Amino acid sequence: MELKYEKKNTYEKINKVKEEAMFDYADDYLSFLNYAKTEYRCVEYFVMALEEAGFKNINDIKEALSVGDKVYYVNKDRSIYAAIIGEESITSGMNIIGAHIDSPRLDTKPMPMFESQNLAMFKTQYYGGVKKYQWLAIPLSMFGIIYNENGEKIEIVIGEKKDDPCFTITDLLPHLAKDQMELTANKFIDPENMTIIVGSIPSKDDKDNKVKNNILKILNKKYGIKEIDFARSDIRFVPSFRAKYIGFDKGLIAGYGQDDRVCSYATVKAIIDIANENKVLKKTAVALIVDKEEIGSVGNTSMSSQAFDIFVANLLDKVEENSCNIALYNAMNNSKMLSADVSNAVEPMYQEVSDIQNANIIGCGVALEKYTGSGGKYSASEASAEYTSYVMNLFDKNDIAYQMGTLGKIGKGGGGTIAYILANKGIDVIDCGTAVLSMHSPYEVTSTIDVYETYRAYKTFFLN
Ligand code: MN
Ligand code: MN
Repeated sequence: MELKYEKKNTYEKINKVKEEAMFDYADDYLSFLNYAKTEYRCVEYFVMALEEAGFKNINDIKEALSVGDKVYYVNKDRSIYAAIIGEESITSGMNIIGAHIDSPRLDTKPMPMFESQNLAMFKTQYYGGVKKYQWLAIPLSMFGIIYNENGEKIEIVIGEKKDDPCFTITDLLPHLAKDQMELTANKFIDPENMTIIVGSIPSKDDKDNKVKNNILKILNKKYGIKEIDFARSDIRFVPSFRAKYIGFDKGLIAGYGQDDRVCSYATVKAIIDIANENKVLKKTAVALIVDKEEIGSVGNTSMSSQAFDIFVANLLDKVEENSCNIALYNAMNNSKMLSADVSNAVEPMYQEVSDIQNANIIGCGVALEKYTGSGGKYSASEASAEYTSYVMNLFDKNDIAYQMGTLGKIGKGGGGTIAYILANKGIDVIDCGTAVLSMHSPYEVTSTIDVYETYRAYKTFFLN
């Protein structure tokens, strides 16, 4: 009888059949990463996939819903929920998996454009927790939704196709960076200086701001927009890099935005596959995919907005003809949830920030974190022993490779997810997601097998 617990590299016990299934899954995941580089592109992708699998927009449904019915709800084009109705009443609790689709990036300021030294540039404001120096001297793509004065929507994507131009922020040459190099990494880039080059050819018929004016003319000709229209836009600059396998063996995956699109993709894929396999569920399964996690889950597309309660109230109304508060409270209070967000994997060259025996190791399966937070469990969302035991048993019984971890050594930092917001509604919730190297960088790295085990874990959770 084995008494001691040891983490195992999941690759050591993989067979040919599973390896093939893993790479099939990962190939599709890579194309998703390359398409869905913003929260609204994720929503677009998920709506297409859900509709293909027979999910219906809940707003279009007039009649009552019953067992096996599949619905989704899009909240302001930036977050999305999907559900499959189970046999038991919703008030007895749902199986919920929740992930986020916003990732660290550079947004434009409301009035971004200026000219300096023969260059037209955009002022930016970074979004989420970034190490600013990682965003210099790399190719950037622009994803923009802009409205003109007539209220028409213009969508712009530049930098993703092979022949597209891209954009970049230049950095100081090492020859003249003597003073810059003396400063700490946090200080040597003033965020006000994170300006993106967008043009350099002057117009022939202007006296000053010739380059800026030329770019304005190009934008007006191509998209019909004027400078003021930047004020009514959502423009994000993200790395142009393609998501790819890493290593001679393709055992890892690198790509922008894996926090938290790796878990978002797995969540939606799990609920879609269950629908396609016509599995009858005991509990109603709910996938909730939200925005604005990286800036503290604030705003009407975040987990903190009432949109999720409204969705569940709508489900109750259409399934049980009972959307009174007490039914909603009971539904929440009796639910179980996986907070599907990434955590860090131990960095081989920075092991000192991790307590190795309580850290996530790349390749050891989906990461379960009993609690998050920092210091004296400050702001921690902690799963009870009872609920942690439930999830561990479920994964053990279904041969899911998982590991128990924490974010890092006490006092080295910390972090949280959307878990606490759902826990505050009375839901039993535990953090469960993929371990990531280079988290929040422009090119995050995961293990192909962990990515696949994450999907298997979520599917198992929905099915039980
Ligand atoms: Mn995250
Ligand atoms: Mn994050």
